[in-house]
Amino acid sequence: MSSSQQQRKLRQPIVVVLGHVDHGKTTLLDKIRGTTVALKEPGAITQHVGASVVPASVIEKLAEPLKKFLPRFKLIIPGLLFIDTPGHEVFSNLRRRGGSVADFAILVVDIMEGFQPQTYEAIEILRQRRVPFLVAANKIDRIPGWKPHPDQPFLISYRMQKPEVQQRLEELLWNIIGEMYKLGFRADRFDRIKDFTKTVAVVPVSAKTGEGIPELLAVLAGLTQQYLQKRLMYAEGPAKGVVLELREQPGLGVVADVIIYDGILRKGDIIVTGGLEGPVITRVRSLLMPKPLVEIRTAKRELESVDEVVAAAGVRIVAPELEKAVAGAPIFVARDEEEAKELAKKVMEEIEAIRIRTDKEGVIVKADTLGTLEALVEALKKRGIPIRVADVGPIAKRDVIEAVASKQINKYYGVIIGFNVKVLPEAEEEARKHGIKLFVHNIIYKLIEDFEKWYKEQIEADRRREFESLVRPGKIRILPGYVFRRSDPAIVGVEVLGGVIKPGYPLMREDGKRIGEIMQIQDKGKSIPEARAGMAVAISIRGKVMIGRQVDEGDVLYTDIPEKHVQLLLTKYRSWLSNDEMVVLKEIIKIKRKQNPLYGLVFPQQQQKQQG
Ligand code: GDP
Repeated sequence: MSSSQQQRKLRQPIVVVLGHVDHGKTTLLDKIRGTTVALKEPGAITQHVGASVVPASVIEKLAEPLKKFLPRFKLIIPGLLFIDTPGHEVFSNLRRRGGSVADFAILVVDIMEGFQPQTYEAIEILRQRRVPFLVAANKIDRIPGWKPHPDQPFLISYRMQKPEVQQRLEELLWNIIGEMYKLGFRADRFDRIKDFTKTVAVVPVSAKTGEGIPELLAVLAGLTQQYLQKRLMYAEGPAKGVVLELREQPGLGVVADVIIYDGILRKGDIIVTGGLEGPVITRVRSLLMPKPLVEIRTAKRELESVDEVVAAAGVRIVAPELEKAVAGAPIFVARDEEEAKELAKKVMEEIEAIRIRTDKEGVIVKADTLGTLEALVEALKKRGIPIRVADVGPIAKRDVIEAVASKQINKYYGVIIGFNVKVLPEAEEEARKHGIKLFVHNIIYKLIEDFEKWYKEQIEADRRREFESLVRPGKIRILPGYVFRRSDPAIVGVEVLGGVIKPGYPLMREDGKRIGEIMQIQDKGKSIPEARAGMAVAISIRGKVMIGRQVDEGDVLYTDIPEKHVQLLLTKYRSWLSNDEMVVLKEIIKIKRKQNPLYGLVFPQQQQKQQG
């Protein structure tokens, strides 16, 4: 940056905080805001709608004691804009075609707990949206023996810790760095990094004591202004933003909380956004921002009307027809009606690109906003799960009807996956009627995990059912002296020589001649469902068989397996057969091939189908 005019045009980077639940995201944001307020920088408006700004002057003041550790840098960005609500949902809604409105992210990891499911999920979505990030290794004050030095830079507090405490911290940091490495990232403690374009910075902090906050802010500011300069140049033209949230405000109707990442938004501007039913073209009636307070922060500040806001900003827009918009939609200022129509087309294309409506097999996906829908659809696609319908809104009867249709094509995909949505009562009723499974959760990875678990169980159960329906290999010998009845049905004592026999199994002789089928198996006078190798039981045989004529005492019999079953046993279920079943199966095939040399052969095409 050479000319000071250019410098003035850099806006604040938009920063989001992500991480696993309870790792300290909210505490960290509170600490950052509190620090800013405590320093009482005069004239600095720090509060936006849904966001807070830490001015450059505050960051510089905090970085003062770091002079001897870190190379000096002059801030050319006006500050950092933090999105107030941490987490994946808000991040998902900060969507922008092919990326994110967020310029940078802080991934909070509890240093004592390390990586957790949502940590991985956060990295995945940051990667998807191509948002650079650093890792805040939080809760360093919980390392046994740690002596807190409130609000001090980490590097200063670190020097005052005992060697074994320093050692422990290094080990814990190495766990994080190692985990990052497994995910394909090079990472290191921030003060040991030479090239920040290749290495993810890890900043040890305590959101509770404030240790490390100076470095966290300094590294954030330094990295963003050095590497994102082009992105941070804003035009003094019409505003561009994203609808973060829509809310009903008494007396004003539905208002939109938006994040402006480029340009200037003015009262009276024509704005263009979109909803599920079509574009929304309207005029800004008023812009609301929190009243700047001279003293101390309070949780809820009063809003006041302003004439314009300049990127980057979080602002509440009051305008007619906003109830038709959807959270996560882009919002643009148009110079005139003509341009508004063009922009409306662009907005709708973007919204329609996220929604899915097909008549193919696939799951039904519902989410609360456009942003979360997009994130969920991306996650499902990544795992190869097909989608029939994807839309914003509660789970309705219509969704169940779609699921029923999908189920008819592929029963494993006749389900509804809902992120943070309600299930309407009539939909619930309809789903119960048709046995449609609903998955509803407010954590994306949980939803996918639950669905995949269910899917596996279904497939497993179906396989098991099919396997159970097959005639399996069995070999028995009629015990001499144990003929209880000669025919209609014949009842004999047998010894199972190999494999398994069950009621319903057809039997054949050693020469392949069918002699009837097993009616019942009894052991000590009790009917049993099966008999395995080594057991001696009584069986009744139905069919045209008379002991002493077709078969005799001492004869060996086999189960007479239909060819289709043999093929399945040799392919899909080969590994399900025990060794003795396999031996008997080979004997059966040998007998059968005397009449049909191709018996049981599986041709490659068939094999594929049967294994599938
Ligand atoms: P979130 O779910 O990620 O937003 O986590 P919270 O900010 O709600 O923090 C979860 C818990 O961890 C709370 O009890 C916090 O007080 C505690 N916590 C957060 N940061 C720190 C820290 O740096 N040190 C300690 N000791 N506790 C912390």
